[in-house]
Amino acid sequence: MAFRCPICGAETAWAGNPTRPFCSEACQMRDLGNWLTERYSIPVSAPDAAPASDNADAS
Ligand SMILES: [Zn+2]
Repeated sequence: MAFRCPICGAETAWAGNPTRPFCSEACQMRDLGNWLTERYSIPVSAPDAAPASDNADAS
């Protein structure tokens, strides 16, 4: 059974592959890096963050 490495697209044997679903340890680390980068670069946008501007008319 063979599969394509999701990182580099190289066709790789599944059986006996310690780094599956990647073709190599390098791609495994690269995927981990991508994952961490994505996790920490998610833009934190809060569309509902409009603080109590309706209650500011108590004169
Ligand atoms: Zn690869």
